Order: sequence, then structure tokens, then C-alpha cells
Amino acid sequence: MLSVEDEDMTKHHTYDIIVIGGGPAGSTVATLVAEQGYRVLLLERATTPQFKIGESLIPATYWTFKRLGMLDKLRTSHFPQKYSVQFYSRTGKASSPFYFFQTNPHESAVTWQVLRSEFDQMLLDNAEEKGVAVRRGVGVRHVLFEGDTATGVLIQNADGTRETLHATVIVDSTGQRSLIGKQLSLNTIEPNLKMASLFTHYEGGHRDEGIDAGATLILHTEEKDSWFWSIPLPYDRTSIGVVGELNYLLQNRRDADGRLDTQKIFNEELEKCAPLKQRLEGAKQLLPIQTTKDFSYRASRIAGNHWVLVGDAFGFLDPVYSTGLFLALKSGEMAADVIVDAFRKDDFSEAQLGSFGPAFVNGMEAFRKLVYAFYTKEFSFARFLSEHPEHQGGIVDILSGDVFRKDVTHIFPDMAEMCPLPPEISLD
Ligand SMILES: Cc1cc2nc3c(=O)[nH]c(=O)nc-3n(C[C@H](O)[C@H](O)[C@H](O)COP(=O)(O)OP(=O)(O)OC[C@H]3O[C@@H](n4cnc5c(N)ncnc54)[C@H](O)[C@@H]3O)c2cc1C
Repeated sequence: MLSVEDEDMTKHHTYDIIVIGGGPAGSTVATLVAEQGYRVLLLERATTPQFKIGESLIPATYWTFKRLGMLDKLRTSHFPQKYSVQFYSRTGKASSPFYFFQTNPHESAVTWQVLRSEFDQMLLDNAEEKGVAVRRGVGVRHVLFEGDTATGVLIQNADGTRETLHATVIVDSTGQRSLIGKQLSLNTIEPNLKMASLFTHYEGGHRDEGIDAGATLILHTEEKDSWFWSIPLPYDRTSIGVVGELNYLLQNRRDADGRLDTQKIFNEELEKCAPLKQRLEGAKQLLPIQTTKDFSYRASRIAGNHWVLVGDAFGFLDPVYSTGLFLALKSGEMAADVIVDAFRKDDFSEAQLGSFGPAFVNGMEAFRKLVYAFYTKEFSFARFLSEHPEHQGGIVDILSGDVFRKDVTHIFPDMAEMCPLPPEISLD
């Protein structure tokens, strides 16, 4: 139990729910609970919209956007439309694009590539329109507990003043900051996915034509030690990032004086990726290289008495299939439903608030298996599909995010014959 006696407490407020963090997960849960008439306060640390990585959506986000009333806003936005994802092998050979409409002739098969500063703000504006009280520039220092029950938060305003705020339910949507996960030591890093990433934006660069102009490209480097994403964005920008094992990409790449020159490492990896280098000829790098590492982890619990984790605050897998935003939106949606149900039943126990956990984790596990397959050097999706063409639809379903609406597990026994798949992790 945390004591706040010695903190500078100035005010007390009561809300039905407090949502910590105004990313996609937080906006989603806040909007859907507020729509049911509950008083929702959302606290976002950043004072203004920020640059964030994580810019490619997958089709299954459509259904959460529909519930949020966001579809028209996205349809009329300038975000490039994404019809497919295409993979390049280490020899530079391109797969045929995996068009999502191959298994889904519905408009949900087309999704978007988003500039996060604008996208996150659109979701926050939508939350405010639906009745959420949004406060920017407010950092939550920690969640207050009485025994194992969450009762409120200690916040720090932009001017340095502190307040305690109380609510019946506290939702942690702080992303990789993972406030409650760290406070209660719930998080475990995926042992076999100790990765790092270096990324930036370019202006200019080659784009394919027609419906391929908005495709995500996933390109292996020569030795398959790392891979790049290429995600087309508005303003003729392209998001380019490289991902590899932490040891390979960062730990073993220090200069003689111990310095880590991330621009140099990025350039060296780009040299090993001829098709991407070609596409970026004449393009201008807009931002200094940014770095992130150890981003694949999961909390052992998804909820407790009067608290819930959503989005990256619960866990994150890997960027390769662009599942992060989808899982953030989906967990926000599922959490909103159990929270509304909790108010109706007056039951805020871990059992009630965590009741969406098993189904959510089940969906995550399908992505996780495919992530492990991707990182198995000797495994190739092209070979898997040539031996098992009947699984093409299953793969497209997973890449589309259809892991909650369809049973996609039928592809895994055959995949396990060609590649070691991880045992499932379940919640405590
Ligand atoms: C290298 C990399 C590439 C990625 N690429 C993709 C991709 O292409 N597609 C995709 O779907 N996903 C991608 N992701 C994942 C995606 O970025 C995340 O899954 C997504 O942003 C999670 O949303 P969220 O709402 O849970 O968290 P976030 O978007 O991180 O939002 C959390 C919010 O909480 C706020 N906050 C944090 N702490 C506090 C606090 N104490 N008090 C108040 N506010 C706080 C933050 O300011 C932030 O706005 C990528 C991730 C990585 C690491």
C-alpha cells in the first residue's frame, strides 16, 4: 500500500472512472464508458500532440472505429489508405502483396496509415465530444491503493502542483510507461523477443502506384539480422524503422570510445537493404534517429480490484504485424464493456473487471505465434504457403487482425512442423 501523507495534496475530486493516458487505448475506453452516461476523467501528461511511433493500422480496427463514431472522420482524413502488406526477402525478392480484401470483401478491408500526433488528437477530440473530461499537461505520479483496491491517483499539474483524485475505477492506459504494471511489478519481458528499433521519417522517396501506394512494406536485410518497415504517411512522408535483436542492433555496436552512434547504425543497416535504399534515393531524412528497446513484454494480470490495464500498459508484442494500435483499441473496447457492466452490477472485483482478459490474451497469442515464426531465421512464409496453400486465408486473417471474430488457430499445427512456436502464456 502506498502512502501519500507526505505529498502536497491540495484538492479532492470524485469521478466514476479516471483514465490515465490519452493514447488510442485510453481514448477508446474513456469514450465508450462516457457514452453510457458515466463521469469519465482522462489525464494526459503531454500538453500538446506529440510525435509517436506506431503509424500503421490493420483492418480489424474498423469495428472499434465504428463503435467510436470515428469512421467518417477517418474516411475524410488525409491519411493514406492501406490495402495490403508486402514482404521482401533478404535477397530483395518481393512477395505478392497480401491484400486484405482477399479474404474480406467488406469496406473494413481498407485501413489507414496515420500520423500519430494527428490521429491521437482526433481520438481525444472525439472522446471530448462524447462527454469525456480531458485534462492535458497532467502527469499521474502513481495510483493510490487501499490494500489491493485502487482508489485514486496522485497527479502533478504542468505548474508543479499536486492533487489527489478519486474514482471508482482507475484505468491505466499509459502505454509502455506501464504505470500500474511497474508499481505492482507485474511485467515480464518476452524472453525471446529482446529487440530494439531505430526509426525516423523521410520526405520524398518512391511510392508504388494505385492501391499499392499506401502499402506497408516489411523488408529483411541481407543476413536477416534485422528488418525494416516502410509506412507511407501524409505530407509525402514515409516512416522508416529498423528492428533487430538488442544485442545485434545496439549492445554490440558501440564505438571504440563506448559511444552509440545510432545514425551510423541505421545507415549501416540500410546499406544491407537494397530495395529500400533504392526507394529512398533522393529522399530527405526529416528527424534525428530515435531509439526504443525492450518493448515486448506483458503484465501477469490485466485487472485487479477497481483497476484495469489497457493497450501497451498491459503488454506489447512486436511491431512486425502492426498489431499494437489494434490491440490498444480492442482492449479499450473490451475493457469499456466490462467497466459499464461492473457499474450495472456494482461489482468492481478483479474477476469482473478482468473478465475480458482470457479472450483478449487468446487473440494476442495468435499474433505472438506469427511473430515467433517471423523471427525464426530458417522459416519462410513463402515456403509455408507453397506447402500449405490452404492456409493463405488464415494468414491474411491474422494480418488483418481477425483474431477475435474468427478461429485462426487451425494454421498453427502445420506451422509448428516447420518452426518452433512458443507455449502460450496465460494470466495469473
Ligand atoms: C518500434 C515500434 C513500432 C511500432 N509500429 C507500430 C505500427 O506500425 N502499428 C501499430 O499498430 N503499432 C505499432 N507500434 C505499437 C504502438 O505504438 C502502440 O501499441 C500504441 O501506441 C499503444 O497505444 P496505447 O494507447 O496503449 O499507448 P500510447 O500510444 O503509448 O499512449 C499512452 C499515453 O499515456 C500518456 N502517459 C504516459 N504516462 C503517463 C502518466 N504517468 N500520466 C499521464 N499520462 C501518461 C502518454 O503521454 C501517452 O499519450 C509500434 C511500437 C514500436 C515500439
